[in-house]
Amino acid sequence: MNVRNLLQNLKIETRAYINGEFVESSSGAKIKKFSSIGGEPLPEITACNENDVNLAVTAAKNAFKDWAALTPLDRKNILLKLADLMEENRQELALLDTYETGRAYKNYFYDSIPKSIEAIRYFAESVDKYYDKAIPARGSEFGVIVRVPLGVVGAITPWNDPLVVSAWKFAPALLMGNTVVIKPAEQSSLSLLKVAALSKIAGIPAGVFNVVPGYGEIAGKALALHNDVRGIFFTGSSEIGKQIMIYAGQSNMKKVALECGGKGPYIVTKNCGDISESAKVLAENMFYNQGQICSAPSRVIVDESKLNEFVECLKIECEKFVPGDSFDDENNVGCVVSDEQFKKVQNYIEIAKNEGAEVYQAKTKKPHSEKARCIQPTIIINPALDSKVTTEEIFGPVVVILPVKSTAEALEVANNSKYGLAGAVFTDNIDEAYSVAKNLEVGLVHINSYGNDDNSAPFGGVKESGLGKDKSTYAFDEYSDLKTIWLHSRK
Ligand code: NAP
Repeated sequence: MNVRNLLQNLKIETRAYINGEFVESSSGAKIKKFSSIGGEPLPEITACNENDVNLAVTAAKNAFKDWAALTPLDRKNILLKLADLMEENRQELALLDTYETGRAYKNYFYDSIPKSIEAIRYFAESVDKYYDKAIPARGSEFGVIVRVPLGVVGAITPWNDPLVVSAWKFAPALLMGNTVVIKPAEQSSLSLLKVAALSKIAGIPAGVFNVVPGYGEIAGKALALHNDVRGIFFTGSSEIGKQIMIYAGQSNMKKVALECGGKGPYIVTKNCGDISESAKVLAENMFYNQGQICSAPSRVIVDESKLNEFVECLKIECEKFVPGDSFDDENNVGCVVSDEQFKKVQNYIEIAKNEGAEVYQAKTKKPHSEKARCIQPTIIINPALDSKVTTEEIFGPVVVILPVKSTAEALEVANNSKYGLAGAVFTDNIDEAYSVAKNLEVGLVHINSYGNDDNSAPFGGVKESGLGKDKSTYAFDEYSDLKTIWLHSRK
């Protein structure tokens, strides 16, 4: 069934959500853009400026004291209510995200939106089990180490998984007693504005949760530079992540956490007994959102003895991820997000061809629209180690395959990257698996699997993939400061 018609029934909110109300920007500016599914203009969204961000931060500052004074149980119940409301509105949230980003509706409805709801429930259920610590009494001295909220927290999010990444940030931030101002990506603001409307129904008081859509270099920059914002939590490219650190230094030395790009190493050793399974898992994790996934295993490092078998298996798996109409609820894969992204990815494929690497693309379906921006799953075999396609994050359905002579060489190639987000090793040898996992310079390693971890697993990279962790109870540490209270008893 094609679900595009359901859009007609929606009343789409495009205004900023500040201090509990939907408002236009003081400048009246709008974000104008076109669908990558059919080329038509998308709803114009309010583009906030520095003024609007100031209003949102002031509202959040004023709301902080009362929100922080609630008990964790009170905040938990409100966030659980929000999760329930999102579940009731799951279809609408999936439609809005599909409409704006071009990712397949099926993928949003069955995977991404449920994951964002599960994340909120996980954090809500965890927060009142999260204890402070005590320093054992020593004579008349006694200390407690407590976690205190930061105050107003800013969040800046990308377009590739709008509600999952937002929930990873706003849920632990709110639950720890902070108030939040969030700047979604200009390509994906509608679903978060719907969540803002639901937050009011859930009972989140005015000023506690604010959404300021707009351009990064205006609204995002104003948020990251704001002196009343005490922490800035960013997910996006490494390039902008570095800029966020500069903003923090230029303003009030606010706390910074960054979830940035990746070029995930996926090592298949000579001891891997099930090559077909390793190719299947790779395709599932590489191609489902047209490769627009920060942790995508986009650098396969395979023992040369297994190369041919792996490539043949992967070619078969690629056919399951051929893109099509994002609104067709039978399609697993939709379009890339924008014309700009489409051209960027095509350019990398051209670079590989011009450099003489072997390039394989899955067979093409007739596009549902001449204006559709879809790219076939693409395999680049044996590009140069210093080629841009090997070293840079392509953020498209393009995987490079690098043959190596040994597992030691595989590790060397894997770690020769500025990125370090997630990786994997496929082997039947437990000693080899452990050794590779230990020595891979990444924040998360899978052994004989990929991407099947859950909310209990901290997520975040090393090197230029960022700093700090999303997910798990460790996320609560990010959205709070440690404070020591030392007591001296006079008796
Ligand atoms: P991006 O261009 O870095 O943008 C991310 C966010 O930053 C957007 O909201 C953007 O606003 C904003 N921004 C841009 N310039 C800014 C500035 N000067 N000051 C403050 N904010 C600014 O990244 P993207 O293209 O949206 O997303 C793709 C990237 O995100 C990839 O590199 C991917 O690996 C990474 N990512 C990482 C993770 C992770 O968990 N590690 C998860 C998802 C994505 P605009 O929308 O207006 O540009």
